[in-house]
Amino acid sequence: MDDIGPKIARLRKQKSMSQEQLASAARISQATVSRLEKQEQEASIKTLAKLARALSVGLSELAPPEALRPGDLSDDAFYAFCENPFCARNKLKLADKRPTVYWESWQSYRGENWSDVNFCRVCGGDLVKECSSCGFRLTDKGGRFCTRCGKELTERPTEEEWTRIRAQLQPGEDFDDDIPF
Ligand SMILES: [Zn+2]
Ligand SMILES: [Zn+2]
Repeated sequence: MDDIGPKIARLRKQKSMSQEQLASAARISQATVSRLEKQEQEASIKTLAKLARALSVGLSELAPPEALRPGDLSDDAFYAFCENPFCARNKLKLADKRPTVYWESWQSYRGENWSDVNFCRVCGGDLVKECSSCGFRLTDKGGRFCTRCGKELTERPTEEEWTRIRAQLQPGEDFDDDIPF
C-alpha cells in the first residue's frame, strides 16, 4: 500500500478539500489524514473505506486489490502503541489543569510483521500489541482498555514519572492531584 498516501493527497486536492475538511467528512482525525498522506502510518481497510466515501471514490481506488480479497492480510492486521509516556509520539497535556497522558502513538501493522513489532522506532520503548491479561491482539485502534476483557493495556505512569510529567507541564498551584490517565 505504498502509494496510498500521495493518492489520498491528490484526490483531496482535486476536490479542493483541506486535510481538516477531509478528516471531518471521513470522521477521522486530521492528524491521521496527515500521517497517512505522509506515509507515516498505514491505513486500515476500515479507514480507507471511510476516506473513499468522503472522497466519493470507490474503495478499490484507494485499497490495492489484494487487500480486498477475502482472507486478506488486513484480517490479521493489528495495532500497537508505545507505552512510554515521554515518547514524542505520545502527548502530555494539561486537561482541566491536570497533567494527562494522551497515548497517540497507536499505529497499525500487517499481521505478517507480528514478531518484528516490539519496540518503538522513535524512543525504543516497548510497544503494547496485545492484552497482557487475556492475550487479545489489538485489532482496533482503541483507548487504554482491552476491548475483550476490559483490563488496562498498559501500566499507569509511576509516581516518579508523574513527577517528571508535572514538572514538564508546570500545572500551577491549584493543581489537582487526582490524576487521570
Ligand atoms: Zn516511543
Ligand atoms: Zn484483555
